[in-house]
Amino acid sequence: MATSNRGMNPLDTLRGRYDDVETVCPACGYDDADGKWTGETDGAEVRYEHACPSCGHVAVRRITIGR
Ligand SMILES: [Zn+2]
Repeated sequence: MATSNRGMNPLDTLRGRYDDVETVCPACGYDDADGKWTGETDGAEVRYEHACPSCGHVAVRRITIGR
């Protein structure tokens, strides 16, 4: 293999990255500092959701894994 492999699957890698993402609600501006993005994947795309505890707005982000 030409590329390094640390034994993590893409979802684990992306989830770790998204633990650091801002969780400021785009609808009401509430900063859910302890909030988590929940992720699920079908192998080609990862879909993340974060529900605002203040107003209930659900933010969705999609990341294509690219295989
Ligand atoms: Zn909100």
